[in-house]
Amino acid sequence: MSRHDRILFAGDPHGNFSPLIAAVHKHRPEAVILLGDYDLDMPLEVCLQEIIGLTEIWWIAGNHDFETPGKYKNLFHSALAGNGLHLKVIDIAGLKIAGLGGIFLGRVWYPPQPPKWRNKQHYLCHQPTHTKPASAQSPELPLKYKSAIWHDEFEALKKLKADILVSHEAPGSHRHGFSVIGDLAAAMGAKYIFHGHLHENYARTIKHNIDVFGVANMAVTDLLGNILNEQ
Ligand SMILES: [Zn+2]
Repeated sequence: MSRHDRILFAGDPHGNFSPLIAAVHKHRPEAVILLGDYDLDMPLEVCLQEIIGLTEIWWIAGNHDFETPGKYKNLFHSALAGNGLHLKVIDIAGLKIAGLGGIFLGRVWYPPQPPKWRNKQHYLCHQPTHTKPASAQSPELPLKYKSAIWHDEFEALKKLKADILVSHEAPGSHRHGFSVIGDLAAAMGAKYIFHGHLHENYARTIKHNIDVFGVANMAVTDLLGNILNEQ
């Protein structure tokens, strides 16, 4: 259980899955966790077919995965759709891993400002009727809004316990990060955060002695934050 490469973390692939595939062949991890921004022009399981069956594949979404209906469908309607970690805690290779996909959006919630909407329903109820499809019983959230981190869901995640938090957005360890993500990890009892989005490899310790590992685009790290592929 102590192998540090039994779980690997993959930074924003942006369409290039080769470094992750190579790392899986070399390290044979029990699981890989993808940190968002895939830019998929085909379903995720097709991009990763070489490693399906070799390792568990888990993921959170990044902002780019909501850019077009195609990119969205290739992730959220892929054969790996059920392996999303967003707002969940899953036991992976002996550790409890929590996931927070998406980004903070000014029109939904941009901490430290208060949230604009209590929840998705609150937002949908306040849209002018002419933008709602006449037939729809439950109107669809626009893709942009689906990419947002919603305050009520974030608060619900806080009540769960985890060892590691994976997020697309950065915590306060990075100048473009958000301290509420560190607060989330602390509330959950998580001692480690792995995040993507900012295309930078770094390690930093924040409040509550939480170790943060930023994983650069196409980089792959182990549980200690060691970068396994030199770019
Ligand atoms: Zn991103």
